[in-house]
Amino acid sequence: MTQRITILPEIITNKIAAGEVVERPASVIKELIENSLDAGATDISVEMAAGGRRLIRITDNGHGMSRADAMLSLERHATSKIRTDSDLDGILTLGFRGEALPSIASVSRFRLATREPDSLEGTEIIVEGGRVRDVKACGMAPGTVISVEQLFFNTPARLKFLRNPETEAARAADSVLRMAVSRADTSFSCISDGRELLRVQRGDLQRRLDQVLGRDTSGRLHAVESSIGDISITGFISGPSIVRSTTSGMFTYINGRFVRDRVIQHAIMQAYRGVIDRGRYPVTALFITLPPGEVDVNVHPTKHEVRFRRQPQVHDALQGALEGLLRRSPWLSGERQSPRATTIASTGQAYRERIAAAAQASLQMPSGAKHPTFPGRTASYLKPQEASSTSQAPTVGESAEPFEQETSSAHQRGYFSSLAVIGQFHAEYILCQSHDELVIIDQHAASERVAYQRLKQQCRVGGVESQRLLFPETVELSFTEAAAALRFQTDLARIGFELEPFGGTTIILSAVPRLTEGTGATQLIRDILSELNQRGVSAAFQDAVDELLSRIACHSVVRGVHPLDTMQITELLRSMDETDFAASCPHGRPVSHIVTLVELEKTFKRR
Ligand code: ADP
Ligand code: MG
Repeated sequence: MTQRITILPEIITNKIAAGEVVERPASVIKELIENSLDAGATDISVEMAAGGRRLIRITDNGHGMSRADAMLSLERHATSKIRTDSDLDGILTLGFRGEALPSIASVSRFRLATREPDSLEGTEIIVEGGRVRDVKACGMAPGTVISVEQLFFNTPARLKFLRNPETEAARAADSVLRMAVSRADTSFSCISDGRELLRVQRGDLQRRLDQVLGRDTSGRLHAVESSIGDISITGFISGPSIVRSTTSGMFTYINGRFVRDRVIQHAIMQAYRGVIDRGRYPVTALFITLPPGEVDVNVHPTKHEVRFRRQPQVHDALQGALEGLLRRSPWLSGERQSPRATTIASTGQAYRERIAAAAQASLQMPSGAKHPTFPGRTASYLKPQEASSTSQAPTVGESAEPFEQETSSAHQRGYFSSLAVIGQFHAEYILCQSHDELVIIDQHAASERVAYQRLKQQCRVGGVESQRLLFPETVELSFTEAAAALRFQTDLARIGFELEPFGGTTIILSAVPRLTEGTGATQLIRDILSELNQRGVSAAFQDAVDELLSRIACHSVVRGVHPLDTMQITELLRSMDETDFAASCPHGRPVSHIVTLVELEKTFKRR
């Protein structure tokens, strides 16, 4: 008999775990800050040297640990945060796996010093490459100080993988920044090689964003506050004038935890579709709270990804909340953040309360309403009353408006009608005055947006009309596309595509939406099918319909040079006021451009 299998010693299993949790200095910092926050710290400072390779030191004023706990904390799977299997479904802390400290200590020279507030002295533990070298008493302020020196000194492969110190320091600072945005009730500082990269004091979210984004940006964000059923969404988002070429300005949090999640990102970008150009990203600080049992954070060791039990609902709630705000184009009329904004607190207490409230709400929901239907995407098949009767009444904010009524009362302010028309320039632009601003309107983009919103409304009422093809088309699909085609055959018919399986992965397309006018229908159906596979039915259909409508809108309005008389201009401006998302054409190009008096004066050197 041969024995091939042995159980690995803990020093090796910790190193293996470190491979997942500790990728680089930034991940060490993330884990340690999470621990400090979980320990109730209100002041956290991070120091590093050589991009965190030589030294990372995190000092907090949290509740600290007793000597026994400090020893235990270095054992694998040792945690104070969960105890039973069922606790896994209701995680309120950032950590719970009990892996970070032993992992980090196994790949560095590690020093943990910690003191509980009511104890006279602290405990210091020195660990080298996972081996405890020394444990002794030490004098220190209450709280915890963890120093990580020579990270990866015993894992040369990992060490080689690190980038230069500046890059690592920048990533580490990003890590601190994300935590800082999530917890305005805690002060943070981050010092790298003696240089201060970040220092923020305790305050509210508004103030925190001023500090981390700069007032120029933060002062032009708009507050979102919305809740549907047990999902609540709060925070700030930018209008089309503040965009970035990467997602670096997008801070999104689920139950207080920073996530980079595909579903969340998609919902945000859907809401901004037609508001900002493709390939541009908004600035957001969004906090999504839902009952902890609804979201599984135990998907990946770094917990940056999550899994939602009701993914389409979260997606649609978020998209709906943002659309509720964006469709009003609040940046046009100078509408700034709502006063409520200041009450949006990103504090540990606020999270816990909100999460608890969400859990409570989900318990109290009548069983039939456990899965509320969110107006917006899924609602294309539902009348507004049906949609809202299955969802809990929204408590606050934008989503209280029925999403269905896009061309509704949202624009009674009449920004465009209030403009004093100066005239037309080049038969392409309308020039207007509003107080001390010169407003230039691209008439093509404006009429395109009006046409698009009107078509959308018509489509909602009458559905998508389809047109039989004279010669049915045979379309070769991939295996997964073909499966989706079969599964969603009836739904596809609803948006005008009639198709039948033709053996193997081939389908026959016999009718297409009239709106496509025969062009690109095959490509469109492919796009829809692959979307259907990736995401929920509702979102994919809405996309398809929107795509169709924006194509026709673009072709249905006059392009280029087109003289307009005053009546036509007034009519266009009035229609703009009845139109949602009026600030940009359906492709995301801006509809208007403002030149302020100050800018003009600067041009003429009067200032
Ligand atoms: P987890 O955070 O998943 O519980 P860790 O390995 O990160 O696992 O930490 C282990 C335990 O050590 C924590 O559960 C906590 O009780 C304790 N701990 C870690 N860091 C701190 C800290 N800064 N202050 C107080 N206790 C801490
Ligand atoms: Mg932890």
